[in-house]
Amino acid sequence: MSSRSSQGSRVPTPEPPPLPQPEPLNRAAINQMLLGLGKSYVSTQRIDDGSAQDSAHDEATPLLPRPVTMEDIGKTRAVIWTALTIIFAASLVILLIFPHILPDALAPLVGRLPKDPMKAALQILDNAPVIDGHIDLPVLLRALFANNVSAVELSEESFPGHVSIPRLRAGKVGGFFWSVYTSCADPAIEGEDFLTSTWRVRDTLEQIDVAKLTIEKYPDVFQPALGSQHIRDAISNGKIASLLGVEGGHQLGNSVAVLRQYHALGVRYVTLTHICHNAFADSCGFSPDIVPLHGGLSPLGFRLIDEMNRLGMLVDLSHTSDDTAKQALAHSKAPVIWSHSSARAVHNHVRNVPDDVLSHIGTEEGKKDGVVMVNFAPVFVAEEGNATVEAVADHVDHIAKVAGKKHVGLGSDFDGIADVPVGLEDVSKYPALIAELYKRGWNKYELAGLAGANLLRVFEGAEKVSHELREAGAVPVFDIYDKRTDL
Ligand SMILES: [Zn+2]
Repeated sequence: MSSRSSQGSRVPTPEPPPLPQPEPLNRAAINQMLLGLGKSYVSTQRIDDGSAQDSAHDEATPLLPRPVTMEDIGKTRAVIWTALTIIFAASLVILLIFPHILPDALAPLVGRLPKDPMKAALQILDNAPVIDGHIDLPVLLRALFANNVSAVELSEESFPGHVSIPRLRAGKVGGFFWSVYTSCADPAIEGEDFLTSTWRVRDTLEQIDVAKLTIEKYPDVFQPALGSQHIRDAISNGKIASLLGVEGGHQLGNSVAVLRQYHALGVRYVTLTHICHNAFADSCGFSPDIVPLHGGLSPLGFRLIDEMNRLGMLVDLSHTSDDTAKQALAHSKAPVIWSHSSARAVHNHVRNVPDDVLSHIGTEEGKKDGVVMVNFAPVFVAEEGNATVEAVADHVDHIAKVAGKKHVGLGSDFDGIADVPVGLEDVSKYPALIAELYKRGWNKYELAGLAGANLLRVFEGAEKVSHELREAGAVPVFDIYDKRTDL
C-alpha cells in the first residue's frame, strides 16, 4: 500500500490510476479490530498517504468503517443505558400494575401479599393480630381446677380445652376478652323477680379472681388491659392483651352499683343478658319459644346502659332478644358490640343476629357504630355436621354485606362450646379463617379490621363518649331495682 501511494504523489501521468485494492486492507482492518488494535490504527495509515482518491475511496467503501472516536463510544454507552433504563422502568410499571405475576418469594419487594392464602393470612396477622371478643377460659378453670391457679399449666401445648399459650401464639392472638361467667339460675329457684340468686355476684367475683391470677401467672405472655390504648401497648410489647367481660346482666345482682364495682375491677363489657331474662332486659333464650318479659329493656335496663356509657363499658348485645338489641342500639350513646354472635340469615338460630338488626349498625346518620364478633359454635354456624371454617366465613361475609366490613369481628366462644367447626378446632386456627376470606377477595385492611381493628375502633368510640359525658358532668346512676324491699 505505501509504494503505490508514494508513486501517485510524486509523478502525475495520464496513466490510469491504479485500481483500488480495498479488500486486503479491510481484512487487515478487521484483523486489527479483532486483535484489539482498533480501527483508529487503519485510519492513521490512510491519513498518512495523503491520497484524495483513497480518501474518496474511504467514503465509498461501506466495509471500511470510519474512525471511532471517544464521542462514538460515549454515544453507544448512552444508547445501551437508555435501553436498560427503559426496560427496568417498564418492568417496574408492569409489576406495580400486575403484582400478582411476581412469585411469592419476591412479593414483599412490591408490597404485595403472598398468593398463598395461609402465608398471606399469617403476614396480615403479624401486623394486626386477633382480638377475640369472647373466650370462656375462666369458667373452664373453675370447672377443672376449682379456681386453683397454681394447678393451671397453660404453657402446655395439650392443656385441656381450646386455649393454651402455644396455641395462642400459633393463632397470632394479640388479645381477648376473658369471659367471666356464671350460669343463669333455675327459674324455679330464682323466682320471677330475680331476687334469690345472690351467689351469682360471688361467683362472678371468683371468675374475675381466677382470670386475673392466671393473667398474672404468665407476665411474659399476658398483659392486663383496661382500654383500647392498653390493647395497642400490649400488642406492641408482643403480649396478649387481656380484658374482662361479664356474660350476663343476671350477674349484677340487680344492682347498678355492682356494675360500677365490676368496672373498678377491670371489667370492660357486660352482656345485657345470658339465656335468661333478668331485671334489666329480655334474652333471646336458646329456642324461639321464649316469652318476652319486658318487651326489650326494662326501665332499669335503659339506666344501666346510661351508666355503662358514662363508665366507658361496652354494651354487649349477644344473647339479647331482638327487641332488646334494637332498643339498646337506639338508646346507647356509645357504639355497641356483639361479643360472640353470628348471622341469622345464614343459619336460623335465635342466638344469631337478624338482618333487621344488622341493618341498624353503621356510621351513617340514623345508625349506631358497632361490631358483630362471629361465634364459632357449630350449633350457631350450620346444620349439624356442616360447621366448617368455610361456613363460619359465610357468616362473616353476610354480616359484612348487610352492615359493612367495618362492623364484623371474631368472638369464637372457645372453651365455652362443646364442639368446634372443622378447620377451627382451637385458638391456633384463626389464620385458617383469615386465609379463607383472603381467598374470597378480602384485602389486608379489611382483614385487619376483622381480626381486631374494628373492635378497637368501637372501643375507642365508647371511651370517647364516656369522656364527653364525664366532661359534661354526667353523674352516676343511682336508680334502685323496684322489686327490692331492702332499700
Ligand atoms: Zn355466650
